[in-house]
Amino acid sequence: MQHMPTSLENEVQETPLSLKAEAKDFSFYYGDFKAIKSVSLPIYEKKVTALIGPSGCGKSTLLRSFNRMHDLYPNTRYQGNIDFYPDATNLLDPKVDPIEVRMRVGMVFQKPNPFPKSIFENVAYGLRLRKDKSKSYIEGRVEQALKDAALWDEVKDRLHNQATALSGGQQQRLCIARCLATDPELLLFDEPTSALDPIATASIEDLIHQLKEKVSILIVTHNMYQATRVSDFTAYMFMGELVEFGETTQIFNTPQRAETEAYITGRFG
Ligand code: ADP
Ligand code: MG
Repeated sequence: MQHMPTSLENEVQETPLSLKAEAKDFSFYYGDFKAIKSVSLPIYEKKVTALIGPSGCGKSTLLRSFNRMHDLYPNTRYQGNIDFYPDATNLLDPKVDPIEVRMRVGMVFQKPNPFPKSIFENVAYGLRLRKDKSKSYIEGRVEQALKDAALWDEVKDRLHNQATALSGGQQQRLCIARCLATDPELLLFDEPTSALDPIATASIEDLIHQLKEKVSILIVTHNMYQATRVSDFTAYMFMGELVEFGETTQIFNTPQRAETEAYITGRFG
């Protein structure tokens, strides 16, 4: 990395960067179509990494690989590694259970997708899958997850109401709470605010800031202002390739590649 702004330099001296995950020479195929081409990308612990690039460049495909989402669809193929730390497990290893991966790596989608259940049951869902049975344990975890998702105060008096009655922004925070309940180490966000109004968007961005005290975050966004507001690192993708990766301030202030500069200055894409 060529340039380090002073604030981050100080921060780095106090807490050295450590890897949470790392794509290594990673490729992905839909049938014969190679959608991701030999991408190597570090994901640093308790930092926010943004994936940016024009529509169709492979942002969602790469993101979904980090929790083996593609396993749910036929005729797809992973190649290379997605290593996960501290245990240095390759998440793509067929011996690794994708259900366990999805407990450690949570995912929040573009459109909030609460289950047609109560607020409480939405958050308890993963705990029940894990057969964490004790009632008081589940209640405690649900409360903590809702607090961590900045939703508790708004819903504590109506935990048994239908989740679908919440506003869009509340539903998205509920989906975040549902992920948090199982204590994930990495959270994946795929354009989490593109269906939300500006106020709900700001509250999700604030929440992402708070969450990185506990978890590592990888976020796809088509909004470059959002990338500069929420992320520490940015990866610019084009046609399935990783063009440039660096600190967000470096990518936006002094991109090293002409293609990156063309995209972030809006001359392209
Ligand atoms: P982005 O999120 O950057 O818009 P995607 O990851 O959705 O891009 O798509 C990357 C490429 O993979 C595109 O060419 C897209 O058409 C293709 N693609 C995405 N999903 C599928 C699928 N289920 N089957 C076949 N091709 C797909
Ligand atoms: Mg996408």
